Amino acid sequence: MARRRSTLDEATLIGRYFAGPQALRADVVLGIGDDAAVTRMRRGCDLVTATDALFEGVHYPRGTPPRAIGHRCLAVNLSDLAAMGAKPLWASLALSLPRATGAWLREFSAGFFALAEAWNVALIGGDTVRGPPGATVTVQGEVRRGRHVTRDAARAGDGIWVTGHPGDAVAGRLLLARRGGSPLLRRRFLYPAPRLREGVALAGIASAMMDVSDGLHDDLGKLMRASGCGAELDASRLPLSRQLLAATGPAAARDMALCGGDDYELLFTVPARREAQLARLTRDWAVPATRIGTVRRAAGLRWSLDGKPFRFRDRTFRHFR
Ligand code: ADP
Ligand code: MG
Repeated sequence: MARRRSTLDEATLIGRYFAGPQALRADVVLGIGDDAAVTRMRRGCDLVTATDALFEGVHYPRGTPPRAIGHRCLAVNLSDLAAMGAKPLWASLALSLPRATGAWLREFSAGFFALAEAWNVALIGGDTVRGPPGATVTVQGEVRRGRHVTRDAARAGDGIWVTGHPGDAVAGRLLLARRGGSPLLRRRFLYPAPRLREGVALAGIASAMMDVSDGLHDDLGKLMRASGCGAELDASRLPLSRQLLAATGPAAARDMALCGGDDYELLFTVPARREAQLARLTRDWAVPATRIGTVRRAAGLRWSLDGKPFRFRDRTFRHFR
């Protein structure tokens, strides 16, 4: 603990729950235990860094299983690396807790390390403080020099694509509050899967890319503004999952897909000349990639449904209520 002592002293806590079970990487020159970590970059690569903070009551509801919090605080950061087309290497974790209890830490670290090991990410340091429950993670990854994918290079005529099934996560979040509903939807909220394989593969194919955290419509607006463009979109092409449709019906499902948030899917644009290459690429992906529209020169997002302008209820579920 940076300030006061808790039930577990800091060194014991770190040693027991964080310094042990981790991916061994030869590029970690010095890991947890000193004043700072030392890592070695590969020649010909650029370093990509992202930080996201998760706090109880703001980013996840009170009562969220600690295993899911451990997974999620790393997953949302890995999703940012995926959106840059980067491969993850290292993470650091600033953990804030009112009390340090073994049961909570065991579950949190199990969730964190299951995901870290799946992607061969080494936890190289962090901080542990007494405070409101929350976790701030920084991840670092690599891209081949100059190959990162930005938000600002979509061009008129490019297709607009999204991975997976937007809307599932927010439905899961609402169902969680009611303690019911489809386990798949709840899992989509609690255990988002960062689209790292897809993001890395899209570097060199996508003209622009970002991950969807605030809702597809909102984030699409950011992508288009950054690129100085607008878009025409077809709401009937939204990849609504069977589970979402069964839980809410098509109108609410579209609403959730457009305004829900917490999806951590990839939203990207692809020039027409690279569509065949994209089709070959996505053939053996575990998640679908769906074309939902086209980039246009005129600013603004124009949604249609069955040939008519489509107006939806623009409620962005940014924070849990
Ligand atoms: P200092 O006071 O020098 O910052 P700390 O006692 O806070 O050192 O941390 C000791 C070591 O443990 C450092 O290497 C730090 O990066 C690491 N560390 C602290 N908290 C965590 C955590 N929650 N997860 C991973 N590593 C941590
Ligand atoms: Mg410290």
